[in-house]
Amino acid sequence: MIEGTVSLGQLVDWLSRFCDVVTEQRSYLTELDSAIGDADHGANMTRGMTAVMKKIGASPAGAADELFKTVGMTLVTSVGGASGPLYGTFFLRMGMAAGPVTEFNRAALSAALHAGLDGVVARGKAEAGDKTMFDALSPALDAFDAATGDGIAAAAVAAFAAAAKGRDATEALVARKGRASYLGERSIGHIDPGATSTTLLFQALSDVLTKE
Ligand code: ADP
Ligand code: MG
Repeated sequence: MIEGTVSLGQLVDWLSRFCDVVTEQRSYLTELDSAIGDADHGANMTRGMTAVMKKIGASPAGAADELFKTVGMTLVTSVGGASGPLYGTFFLRMGMAAGPVTEFNRAALSAALHAGLDGVVARGKAEAGDKTMFDALSPALDAFDAATGDGIAAAAVAAFAAAAKGRDATEALVARKGRASYLGERSIGHIDPGATSTTLLFQALSDVLTKE
């Protein structure tokens, strides 16, 4: 059984890939947000992650805590929407949980991701079924932890699949948090934009960890 580890370089690759996929999916994220929000989720995520890549390219971090702190701070300060503070808190908490390490094993990565999820909940108070990014993030982490025997890359693949399932399930839900909640029942029939970008976060992780 190869558990494997994730290096600092792979974490940077993960962020870079996430930046690329949100940029590729910018119009789609905006289209989703135009149905139940204010049509800025694609722009928010692209602006935030572009700023992140610029920042970490200019001054590369020496360890995971420093890296994720920069990511979180940059998202909080460069994204105006709800998603800036939420994703920002996610990465800030990941960094605090990680500490000054340059490598994660599966348990440490799981612990950091859970700290990130706890931060999102502390900040936004979302619960399961509220039709938010929580509905992709929480099942992704459950699947990451539950994937057995195949190492860290397989756990990331399982997390991506679970996030996608959670994202798809938001279509039938009534939004109870964020801007979409103003629509009440009229939010039914639309996939949540934040659950979609969170699925891209796990797609990016799975892409990077299954490479080579
Ligand atoms: P805004 O809603 O300010 O325009 P974005 O469009 O960038 O910000 O992000 C919207 C996404 O943020 C939603 O699709 C939802 O997934 C997520 N979101 C909003 N409020 C919350 C919350 N309280 N908890 C978790 N996620 C939330
Ligand atoms: Mg919006």
